[in-house]
Amino acid sequence: MARDGVDVLVVGGGATGAGAALDAAARGVRVGLVEQRDYASGTSSRSSKMFHGGLRYLEHLDFGLVREALRERNLMLNTLCPHLVTPVSFIYPLEHRFWERLYVGAGVFLYEILARMASSPLPWHQHLGRRRLRSVAPALDAFGGIRYWDAVVDDARHTMTIARTAAAHGALLANSARVVGAGTNRNGQIEAAHVVDLERGVQITIPTRVIVNATGVWTDDIERLAGEHRVDVRASKGIHLLVPRDRIDAEAGILLRTRVSVLFVIPWGSHWIVGTTDTPWSLSRAHPAASRTDIEYLLRWVNTALRSPIGVSDIVGVYAGLRPLLKGETDETSKLSREHAVHDRGNGMISVAGGKYTTYRVMASDAIDATSPYLGSLPASTTSEIPLIGSTARSEDRLRCRYGTFAGEIEKLSATDPEYARPVVGDAPYLNAELRYAVTHEGALHLDDVLTRRTRLSIETRHRGLDAVKPTARIMGGVLGWDRVTFDREIDHYQARVRAELDSQSQPDDRTADAARMGAPDVRTGINE
Ligand SMILES: Cc1cc2nc3c(=O)[nH]c(=O)nc-3n(C[C@H](O)[C@H](O)[C@H](O)COP(=O)(O)OP(=O)(O)OC[C@H]3O[C@@H](n4cnc5c(N)ncnc54)[C@H](O)[C@@H]3O)c2cc1C
Repeated sequence: MARDGVDVLVVGGGATGAGAALDAAARGVRVGLVEQRDYASGTSSRSSKMFHGGLRYLEHLDFGLVREALRERNLMLNTLCPHLVTPVSFIYPLEHRFWERLYVGAGVFLYEILARMASSPLPWHQHLGRRRLRSVAPALDAFGGIRYWDAVVDDARHTMTIARTAAAHGALLANSARVVGAGTNRNGQIEAAHVVDLERGVQITIPTRVIVNATGVWTDDIERLAGEHRVDVRASKGIHLLVPRDRIDAEAGILLRTRVSVLFVIPWGSHWIVGTTDTPWSLSRAHPAASRTDIEYLLRWVNTALRSPIGVSDIVGVYAGLRPLLKGETDETSKLSREHAVHDRGNGMISVAGGKYTTYRVMASDAIDATSPYLGSLPASTTSEIPLIGSTARSEDRLRCRYGTFAGEIEKLSATDPEYARPVVGDAPYLNAELRYAVTHEGALHLDDVLTRRTRLSIETRHRGLDAVKPTARIMGGVLGWDRVTFDREIDHYQARVRAELDSQSQPDDRTADAARMGAPDVRTGINE
């Protein structure tokens, strides 16, 4: 990238940035992407993991937003990456006999009409009476419910797959590469980005005509590199808990109303994901911390609907993420806009912010459309017709759901050595071959990348991935050539991170939780934010 330069440099390797790199590459633009940590290490690995239209936005009469997101959901289910997306049903339990069934039923019906206008492959909703509810979801204490369908995805794996697809179309990608400055010519037009390679500790200059700023909650920082920031992004924290599947007896997910928003219980392999919260956050953006108060809030609300309550001892994993919300006229983050905006500063810096994961592709194509004043007219976006690499029909096979047509590569590796065919730990399904593949094909550089995003050992096991630390380090170190010092440093870092997270989860509020989480340094040296 530094030698020949690019026409567009995308900053940020979340879903939006990876999508922008793919969109540009597919239009024949010479594009690069730099990510300061790991692909999806920001919000894009910490969402509720749903591709959905957002039933609750219908109440705000945001029909356009819901229709657009449903169209994108269906595109992913039908064409772009069916192997990665799981259709799931949710039950809305009813507390009031007549008016609630009528009101919620009408909303769900409208949701499905909007979805069917865009080729929804999912079934129609069902009304459940008391007896039927008891058989579908014995855990629920309600006298009826409405069951409707949406979809779930492993967000970190999906983002990494978009990034790999972008690379397959010619985009140049680098992680551990942090943008620290923007070079401009005499007229103030962007002509380069200054980037620090955090693995080698050297700064390089990448010539570029346009910077696409897709940095989520860091948007204002990158804008400031080119002058006064003009996009105002606020961070809103949302946390999730993982509990074992057998702790909530139900064959479908659950959607509950809270006082300010909604709460989901989402089927996730052998676990449920319970979330989320929605509170303003102004502390560490790299490592947002869940406090004891956040955890108690979720437990309190979910237990209002369950016959047999869940408690702290049922929690296997916890994670927190930050919504990049466009600042509006209200201070309540749950009411800030979920729509996205593209802002062209007029000097080659284009910021794309807000939105939802589900609509990343639309955000990406809008951002690349906005580069044409600098690059000349561009062909229209084609990403609605480009399946992600490995894309194939959905299957019940675990490896095919994760790797699609590349599952054979994991199987081939497993066949070369019985050690590769074994799971890395006894309480999770990930094979040693998958850990190796994460390094050789999926860009993982640190233990944290593999334990937190290529696999989900950090949230799916009670030991939070600690039992997998040494075997994973041995496999990664073997490929990356780690010496003893690096091997020990990686392990120390991961252990310190888990200790700090557990400590933060016992703290009473955001400030004390953040202070506890900040006790563990970032493995990619030199960044605190
Ligand atoms: C709790 C929660 C639940 C959610 N649930 C859903 C859901 O179920 N469905 C849905 O559709 N949406 C959901 N969302 C929203 C969705 O997750 C986000 O809108 C989306 O992930 C944002 O992606 P992004 O690429 O814009 O930002 P990010 O994923 O944050 O990516 C920005 C990237 O920029 C990088 N970066 C920052 N500064 C620099 C720099 N100087 N140099 C290089 N790189 C840099 C960061 O490291 C980061 O990786 C949820 C969000 C939250 C917080």
